[in-house]
Amino acid sequence: MKLKFSAISLNSCNGCISTLTCLDVFLNLVKSAEIVYFPFVEDSYPYTIKEEEELEYSDVTLVEGCVTQKDEEILLKKLRKASKKIIALGACAMFGGIESLSQNARKDPLSKIIEIDGAIPGCPPPENVLGASILSLIEGRNLPETNRNLCAVCDLRPKLEKFKTIRVDKLQPQKFPTSCFLDENVLCLGPVTREGCDAKCIKVGLPCEGCMGPPNGLDYTANVINFLSTLELSEKLRTYEGIIFRLRRPRT
Ligand code: SF4
Ligand code: SF4
Repeated sequence: MKLKFSAISLNSCNGCISTLTCLDVFLNLVKSAEIVYFPFVEDSYPYTIKEEEELEYSDVTLVEGCVTQKDEEILLKKLRKASKKIIALGACAMFGGIESLSQNARKDPLSKIIEIDGAIPGCPPPENVLGASILSLIEGRNLPETNRNLCAVCDLRPKLEKFKTIRVDKLQPQKFPTSCFLDENVLCLGPVTREGCDAKCIKVGLPCEGCMGPPNGLDYTANVINFLSTLELSEKLRTYEGIIFRLRRPRT
């Protein structure tokens, strides 16, 4: 029997779904699955639903973006009832993501509203991670995970000294880094972020901002707070909420 598949966007830039539609494996998905809802590739985008309306059943529903308004919350709850698995697609769905930089009051990750069954990380998810995840979903396997953090695959890692208190007073480097950002007093979230992005930001001279989330489903917010507490943060950075804007706890 064909997999019944849906993909829905909430408040987002559509970067995650766009990435999905550009993958080779997307053709496998379209051929092997029965598409129940996929407004992004239909004329029905953006998708809304009336409160009394019921949704058709899906085996897997990918949800991109975060919840900013009541209509999205209603849709998400209906999707939860109608789906065997709900998978958060990308950093906005997982944490609020870059959308959380907005001053709008509400930018809730999916898990604040419903229980989710997994997540595909990234902003947008790297093609290899997204492709492997989609294949796993098609074949009924668990989503791929990793125990490794970004430092484990980062070319700058060997220069990081152990057991020294690291002072961090910058969010961006002054010059292209030749050693670990932390050695240059620049905040990098690589130690608490899962690998899988091929360290793209590091390679172009930017520190990790954590959009891949934690290794193996750990509590990212708690991990980041623990990590920050091991650093000697400058007064300015201690009060800068944007450090963990992509992964802060849902507002209550
Ligand atoms: S996670 Fe990134 S790419 Fe995906 S919708 Fe949010 S901002 Fe766009
Ligand atoms: S902290 Fe950042 S720059 Fe340093 S090794 Fe880890 S990922 Fe690389």
